[in-house]
Amino acid sequence: MDCFKMQEAAEHNMKMHPMWQGPLTVPGGDHQSPIDIVVRKSVFDSELKPLVIDYDPKTCQQIWNNGYSFLVEYDDTTDKSTLKGGPLQDTYRLCQFHFHWGESNAWGSEHTVDRRLFPAELHLVHWNSDKYSLFEEAVMEENGLAVIGVFLKVGKRHEGLQKLVDALPAIRHKSSVVEFNRFDAACLLPTNTDDYWTYHGSLTTPPLTESVSWIVMKQHIEVSHDQLAVFRSLLFTSAEEEVQKSMVNNFRVQQSLCGRTVRSSFTPFLQAAEGKKHTH
Ligand SMILES: [Zn+2]
Repeated sequence: MDCFKMQEAAEHNMKMHPMWQGPLTVPGGDHQSPIDIVVRKSVFDSELKPLVIDYDPKTCQQIWNNGYSFLVEYDDTTDKSTLKGGPLQDTYRLCQFHFHWGESNAWGSEHTVDRRLFPAELHLVHWNSDKYSLFEEAVMEENGLAVIGVFLKVGKRHEGLQKLVDALPAIRHKSSVVEFNRFDAACLLPTNTDDYWTYHGSLTTPPLTESVSWIVMKQHIEVSHDQLAVFRSLLFTSAEEEVQKSMVNNFRVQQSLCGRTVRSSFTPFLQAAEGKKHTH
């Protein structure tokens, strides 16, 4: 089966949410996300610079339950909250972040590392403000978007995340929006942002355009089971709907790599040594 057919078959199996029902137009088709990151196949690139992340908490505006996830939205009319460096040539503006999570702690992330699943994954979405003037324009173009992915693991309570968790009951139903100010998205990044994988891929929700430079952090962050439980108390459904559906398993199925290379900003020596240990 060729790459494109495999993806179609995978998409066909995803029937848990209305977003994935009905005809989907997948533009291109062989640079789709998410993927499994195979550590021993990733290629160390010494040219990959550290990321330059400069977020202004004052650009934080609101939280919105869009019926698939909750979006923390930022004012992106100026270059006040930006991402530069790493694999990027241009300046990218932060417009929103959101998460994907499972119904249990055993799965929920979109990307995986050597098939390892995490209970949730954070996506910080940025668009290229050097080349484009609006998100809607950038989303259709190559190098239009840069998304940072961060894996969440269950452990200690995350103090930074708690302000967000406390706001979630107010947006339990689909389409509800509340004002949300002065949230520093940088508090959700791992302490080490120098080590990451990067590859060219797509949005994991429609329009699925292949406009994304993915930057997936090697280091995860820790959140408590109770914090994730509040994510799971959100609803896919609006207040008017008779049957309410819990917002869980809001991730896309994995896509084929189709010959792409995943580059790493760090040397894979340690992983290689560990791999050896297991085979002997
Ligand atoms: Zn996402």
